[in-house]
Amino acid sequence: MARSEAPRPPSVERLLAAARPRLGAQRDHAALLGAARAVVDDERGRIASGAGPRELATLAEALVQGLESLTASHGSGLTRVINATGVLLHTNLGRAAWPAAAIRAAEVAAGGYSLLELDRASGRRGARFRVAEEHLIALTGGEDALVANNNAAAVALAVGLAGRGGRVIVSRGELVEIGGGVRIPEVIRRSGARLVEVGTTNRTRVADYEEALTDGRAKVVLRVHPSNFVIAGFTETPDPAAVAALAHRHGAILIDDLGSGALLPTEQFGLAHEPLPGERLTAGADLVTFSGDKLLGGPQAGLIVGRADLIARLRRDPLARATRPDKTTLAALGATLGLYRAGLAQGEIPIWRMIAAEPAGLRTRAEAIRSGLPAAAQGKVGVEAVESTVGGGSLPGETLASFGLAIRAGSANRGLSELRRGEPCIVARIADDALILDLRTVEPADDAALGRAIAALVGA
Ligand SMILES: *Cc1c(COP(=O)(O)O)cnc(C)c1O
Repeated sequence: MARSEAPRPPSVERLLAAARPRLGAQRDHAALLGAARAVVDDERGRIASGAGPRELATLAEALVQGLESLTASHGSGLTRVINATGVLLHTNLGRAAWPAAAIRAAEVAAGGYSLLELDRASGRRGARFRVAEEHLIALTGGEDALVANNNAAAVALAVGLAGRGGRVIVSRGELVEIGGGVRIPEVIRRSGARLVEVGTTNRTRVADYEEALTDGRAKVVLRVHPSNFVIAGFTETPDPAAVAALAHRHGAILIDDLGSGALLPTEQFGLAHEPLPGERLTAGADLVTFSGDKLLGGPQAGLIVGRADLIARLRRDPLARATRPDKTTLAALGATLGLYRAGLAQGEIPIWRMIAAEPAGLRTRAEAIRSGLPAAAQGKVGVEAVESTVGGGSLPGETLASFGLAIRAGSANRGLSELRRGEPCIVARIADDALILDLRTVEPADDAALGRAIAALVGA
């Protein structure tokens, strides 16, 4: 019986030899072998599923392209996005863009040695880079400050002050899920402490806290800012100062988790008042925790400010070491906080620049984009008043008047998906069956690209 020769892929060695002239001499052999094996395996799979074998040169080309794509500028896997959603702090889009000063500081820290933990005068090991912490002390009036790698870590660390089995009192109205499935009761349990719930979902009074504190067994009262939801109607939450005074009378400390932790007064931009960390310390909180990449507008970080003796205890906690931020984060955070101290935050920090943008200016930009469209496209695109939201677990229910472009031609869902898959990637939103591109979250430098994508979408 004659056996027909089944086609076979080339050997890894043959493939590598074919590609070698285009690979340069610097590449590590093990990495080349891995990449070549993947190409050969892929070819074997294709042949098995009935496809004809490809030429050796074609496979060599696939190998070279595959290796080059790993180090191309998009090789980090992150695609740059134009955020036209009008949601300023979009957690799925990476929250806050850093100010230029923070980017520069991180680059310097990343690219060389620094005095991260070396005392320049004595030449001995010193406290880990203190600039960010010193800014936090100056900006909030806290006695000391500590930086963890996100606010969830900061809360876990702070709650650990209750000790193993120690009681942590939380209002039932504040047992929230902070995002990504992380829930306050679980954070407390994981730190080894015991949760004591007081009050009800909609109303918690000082007397509820008092009842749980009177036996003197609770070490910590935790308040959690309702940063990503609103309870409206028949509600009551006690004054922070009253809860702090009560906790202290019973030998407990008050930890106030603010979540977004604005360092500029939000009401000056027509938004509801977002509590400032310093304001809660003045009201008697022993520690206040907040994020670095929400309204603060810097890198991902968790910031703890407050009593020096408590922060000294936190610093000694092994969890502080496990959750400590990288040097680039510390440098970027220090630079961001420096802008607040210098009085430059509103102009230099992207999140505040976007919050402060006047609707009239956004309207002018929207009109310019529309009038730059080909005549046939202009009829399908309108300039409309829209509402932006802060997002990212900050100021729920609050909106900022804005302007955007509304496309009412064709399926809005299809348009949304086409913009997202285009180059550059544009993320928009749908409202009232229209595709909306809100200009508040779009950098003006991206207006031209936005206009080209709209023209292509509406087929003009
Ligand atoms: C967002 C938020 C957190 C978590 O902060 P991350 O920096 O995202 O870890 C914790 N508590 C509150 C109240 C929040 O809003």
